[in-house]
Amino acid sequence: MPIHETDLLAIGAGGGAYPAAFRVAQAGKRVVLVDPRGAMGGNCLYDGCIPSKAVRETAGLYMDWQRFARLGLPGNVRPDYGAVVRHKDAIQERRYAQHAQELATLSASADIRLVCGVARLVDPHTVRVESSLGEEMFRCGSILIASGSEISVPPVPGAGLCLTSHDLYRPQPALQSLPEHLCVIGGGYIGLETASFLAALGSRVTLLQKGDQVLNGMDPGMVRLLVPLLHPRIRILTGVEVVEIVATETGRRVHYRQNGQPQSVDADAVLMAAGRRPVIPEGTEAIGITTARTGILVGPTLQTRFPHIYACGDANGRVPLFHAAVRQSLVAAHNILGGHRPLDQADFATVPTTIFTMPAAAYIGRTPGRPDAGPLVEGSYAFSGDARAQILERTEGEIRLFFEPGSLRLAGAWVVGIDAGQLVGQIGTALAGGMTAYQLAAFADQHPMASEGIGKAARSLF
Ligand code: ADP
Repeated sequence: MPIHETDLLAIGAGGGAYPAAFRVAQAGKRVVLVDPRGAMGGNCLYDGCIPSKAVRETAGLYMDWQRFARLGLPGNVRPDYGAVVRHKDAIQERRYAQHAQELATLSASADIRLVCGVARLVDPHTVRVESSLGEEMFRCGSILIASGSEISVPPVPGAGLCLTSHDLYRPQPALQSLPEHLCVIGGGYIGLETASFLAALGSRVTLLQKGDQVLNGMDPGMVRLLVPLLHPRIRILTGVEVVEIVATETGRRVHYRQNGQPQSVDADAVLMAAGRRPVIPEGTEAIGITTARTGILVGPTLQTRFPHIYACGDANGRVPLFHAAVRQSLVAAHNILGGHRPLDQADFATVPTTIFTMPAAAYIGRTPGRPDAGPLVEGSYAFSGDARAQILERTEGEIRLFFEPGSLRLAGAWVVGIDAGQLVGQIGTALAGGMTAYQLAAFADQHPMASEGIGKAARSLF
């Protein structure tokens, strides 16, 4: 078997891989990307952020319609879920085409190619790729592991009867019509978001959560504000241990225990949303790379214990979000081009995170309910007084900013309510720039946009 020489081989072609691949190729190096999908975009585009948000935004439009029915809009029209799915599929198709075009454009002037196959590590410099065309071996100057994550299904009897986020969001998904009653197992962000979208479109949802709070691990203050604002068609049961899922004539029955008491719920469909786990390519541990349950161990330079082997994105489990993977990928590229010296470092602590429920909740940095938050000074602003929120009749929720005592330097924030994802991005820029409450208070943001509330929250301190 011939051995190809390459400067960089990326395992995966998602957010953790292609930004580095492009940058390193643009610097004149030979680059190979390997992904069994034979396309760029990873899980984010295939069955993650993009398709789920395509569904979310149509559900949001439908809610707006209903809220403004008195203006003569058709408030009572039932949504056509098939049309929602077709919109989602079209967005995915469009973005796959866009990525293919980006790769074609770059490969006209740079040495980069995408191999459709599965990669495994043979030794610290050799990768074997298996594809429908056979096997290829690569001798690599650097290796970037960005193999992402996969759905983890707990060993509950009947779990195979459940849908997963893959069945809802992949192109031409299994779910093509709206279930009248959906049972969701798992109160993490995927379960809660999907519950919100389908409830907004008309489903009744029963969500079963193991612990005593949904969005476990997130700031309890933020979660306490969010939960009562979720759609009234969502019923959340906590302290639940799912025992078994069985098929019935009309759908599924989920048997569970709550406070030790056996109970059951009937639904048309069940979504298993009990978590994701990192995908570790074969051979990773055998060649001596250290992995944990959470992923491949790396520090802020994204290097494993081999300076020329990097792990970015969900595969390292540090911050399993697409935008975090992209930043990590660029950090890896800079360090690869710098001869594996620590030229650039990722900051895992200040990544903006949004739970795209309806309304959304978003946070960044240090917030008081999180471990090791330390002392913080708080400024807040409620959307009940906000002009844009009033115009759109979405006055629920608030902005909370958290500052270092003394310096009043911004340390973190959370936002629940209108435009939360956008606002936390803007707050994140201020945080990255080291801004203080004084500077935020002095910035005259646009009226009437929800971002005015950031300055108002800062001004609440003075
Ligand atoms: P991240 O955002 O962390 O980079 P993604 O989910 O976007 O993660 O992308 C990971 C990609 O890696 C997926 O497209 C998946 O098919 C691919 N992948 C997983 N395991 C392998 C492997 N052994 N060889 C090549 N590609 C892989």
